[in-house]
Amino acid sequence: MTCIFCKIVAKEIPATIVYESDTILAFHDVNPKAPVHILVIPKKHLPSLLDFNQTNATLLIDIQQAILNVAVTLKIDDPGFRVVTNVRDHGGQEVNHVHFHVLGGRKMLWPPG
Ligand code: AMP
Repeated sequence: MTCIFCKIVAKEIPATIVYESDTILAFHDVNPKAPVHILVIPKKHLPSLLDFNQTNATLLIDIQQAILNVAVTLKIDDPGFRVVTNVRDHGGQEVNHVHFHVLGGRKMLWPPG
């Protein structure tokens, strides 16, 4: 297994986990870009957003529920936060296990760089 996020799912390397279900894991980003920076991932290895389809689409609902849980738990649901998923090279994706950045705790800028 070479995927770093699969290793976090397998508890082979440490992470600060804030939410876990049968299908989803959420943990603090090791290099946070905001006061709150959580990564929400499916436990199943999927390379990017492009790999959701009719057979695994329920994972997207699971991800949304995880984001909701994390936002309420970390008290960023109000005033709000940002969710980002980077896709492939031009999207800035560095880890090829789909993940949703949940960023909060400050006002986000737009447009992103
Ligand atoms: P991306 O550029 O969208 O692929 O984002 C990858 C994110 O994973 C970056 O924000 C990294 O800081 C984060 N990251 C990489 N390795 C780890 C790790 N072991 N634990 C937590 N976050 C990580």
